[in-house]
Amino acid sequence: MSATKAYAAKNATAPIEPWTIERRSPKPHDVQIEILYCGICHSDLHTARNEWGGTVYPCVPGHEIVGRITAVGDHVKRFKAGELAAVGCMVDSCRVCNNCKQGLEQYCENGMVLTYNGQEKDGSGNTYGGYSKQILVHEDFVLNISDKFPLEGIAPLLCAGITTYSPLRHWKVGKGDKVGVVGLGGLGHMGVKLAVSFGAEVTMLSHTASKEKDAKKLGAHKFVLTSDAEQVKSVTNYFDFILDTVSAEHDYNLYLNLLKTNGNMVCVGAPPSPAPVSAFNLIMNRRTLAGSLIGGIPETQEMLDYCAEHNIVSDVEVIDIKDINEAYERMVKGDVRYRFVIDMATL
Ligand code: NAP
Ligand code: ZN
Ligand code: ZN
Repeated sequence: MSATKAYAAKNATAPIEPWTIERRSPKPHDVQIEILYCGICHSDLHTARNEWGGTVYPCVPGHEIVGRITAVGDHVKRFKAGELAAVGCMVDSCRVCNNCKQGLEQYCENGMVLTYNGQEKDGSGNTYGGYSKQILVHEDFVLNISDKFPLEGIAPLLCAGITTYSPLRHWKVGKGDKVGVVGLGGLGHMGVKLAVSFGAEVTMLSHTASKEKDAKKLGAHKFVLTSDAEQVKSVTNYFDFILDTVSAEHDYNLYLNLLKTNGNMVCVGAPPSPAPVSAFNLIMNRRTLAGSLIGGIPETQEMLDYCAEHNIVSDVEVIDIKDINEAYERMVKGDVRYRFVIDMATL
């Protein structure tokens, strides 16, 4: 075991504050990574504040991890000390169920192990995430990253990137499709960049007027202010695909009405409370409402390789770890341009 500096939430209302965790001793298949940057996902905040329920305290969030390998176990084949590596939202799964065998570890029938607030398969307890100096992860859940780009811009790909890439690929979004992305935050800005790169016509649906210029800079072709009824009306029955990334309670019906015949709306945003959906908004135009959870390990590697090839990184605001609580407050207000990333040298 080794004592590792970290930042943790001690309970649902406490600030995120310094704490020391014990990391396990390296196992034969472990990759030990010194964490250099860690992105801040809204899921970190939902979990730290127990907004979804089930948070085990102290909680060390962080699942957009990039760093340098400091050591590898004897059986590790794919990685060497000194190389760059990344870890996303999962650190283990059963590997034998139908979903795991297909590379859909996020839907493991026996339960994946989340990078934080997860339960280790060996019974050793709660997992701790990336707001820490180092992490040990089984090589099967470690990803390769390019050394072509600033690492801070790569970190958010590990959650915001894959969470938007996976549904866009699954629903085969591409040239000729009209795509709406709801909410311009961490996930939303990656959704825009990726959908544009796949050749779709992309409209940003935002409740913040001041984000219009940025949305266009990110590549969005159109901007609709969702609080303006006239603007919303102008895109009724318009979209083939809508990606909903909103973190707070909102009206799904408003967006369902914007889908054309056979259109799909996919929720990736995970507001804590359920929301009513009118059956008529699905019946009319034979619309589909679906959800999607991050992405499996092979698809995450595919996404990282795709982004490296197409020069796609996240737009980030790098922060000192002592400013984490302020970053959380700004995230609640939707004031993120467009992902906070912690420089772990400040820990
Ligand atoms: P974020 O950076 O805070 O962005 C959320 C955006 O939602 C905001 O920027 C804002 O965009 C919009 N929004 C916020 N409050 C709103 C309100 N009351 N009404 C309408 N729009 C509102 O969050 P994120 O990190 O992208 O995460 C978004 C959500 O996805 C979270 O719930 C998170 O837990 C979830 N998530 C899910 C998965 C998955 O696998 N499915 C993975 C990661 C995260 P505008 O200002 O443009 O309206
Ligand atoms: Zn996340
Ligand atoms: Zn499984």
